[in-house]
Amino acid sequence: MASDPTAVVQEIFSGIQGEGVLVGVRQLFVRLHGCHLACAYCDTPAARAAAPAVCRVERDPGSRVLEDVPNPLAVDDLVAIVRRQYAGYPHQAVSLTGGEPLLHAALLAHLLPALHAEGWVTYLETNGALPDALAGLPVPPRLVAMDIKLPSTAGTPPLWEAHAAFLRVALARVGAGAVQVKVVFGAELDEVERAAALVAAQSRAVPLVLQPVTARPGGPPPPTTPPTLAAQTRAARHHSDVRVIPQTHVALGQW
Ligand code: SF4
Repeated sequence: MASDPTAVVQEIFSGIQGEGVLVGVRQLFVRLHGCHLACAYCDTPAARAAAPAVCRVERDPGSRVLEDVPNPLAVDDLVAIVRRQYAGYPHQAVSLTGGEPLLHAALLAHLLPALHAEGWVTYLETNGALPDALAGLPVPPRLVAMDIKLPSTAGTPPLWEAHAAFLRVALARVGAGAVQVKVVFGAELDEVERAAALVAAQSRAVPLVLQPVTARPGGPPPPTTPPTLAAQTRAARHHSDVRVIPQTHVALGQW
């Protein structure tokens, strides 16, 4: 019999969601280790460094007092930690984030049903580039927040086809009302337009969140101040639900 899947987890903590259409709600963040991309603005570089021997787990929700739990963690370990956190605060959802959480599809295949069985909402924060991994999950997450990476801003190879395929899968599995798309943008507005057209071609019911690029921790500031009004105007040529929302957790001084 195959052994239960495990995953290296970077950290687990309670926080205020700072991105996308759910800004302001309290979520429990489970940050899984590892990512196959290397975005220029990545604000979680530790999730792409060497796998940590321990996961940093917040003792009480919001306390920022952290305890070390040996990696890797199994589904039962994670459910127990989530249960303890929910006993201290009624979080809106468990955010499965990274890194790229879909690199841990084997774990998610067991973890998602286990979290749903407890009555908790699951929220997948993904770079939106692994459609087959989402399609292969026996049970999908309740909510999906996917990225579209603009090559000029992220410094990644073009991922347009993968993003379109991912959005198709997400719509089929969780429905338009449970999907949002985030685009971190700089000065290249042709790519912002292309992203908006990509979303609109799949569903006009999916909110498109334009997030002005900010400096990565310890990194240089972005070369230009993103033209927010112009970006929204260009995106609105293609899609009717376009919102400009910066990283609010940065403004709050929260990690
Ligand atoms: S996809 Fe996310 S975690 Fe991966 S490099 Fe880009 S910003 Fe960082």
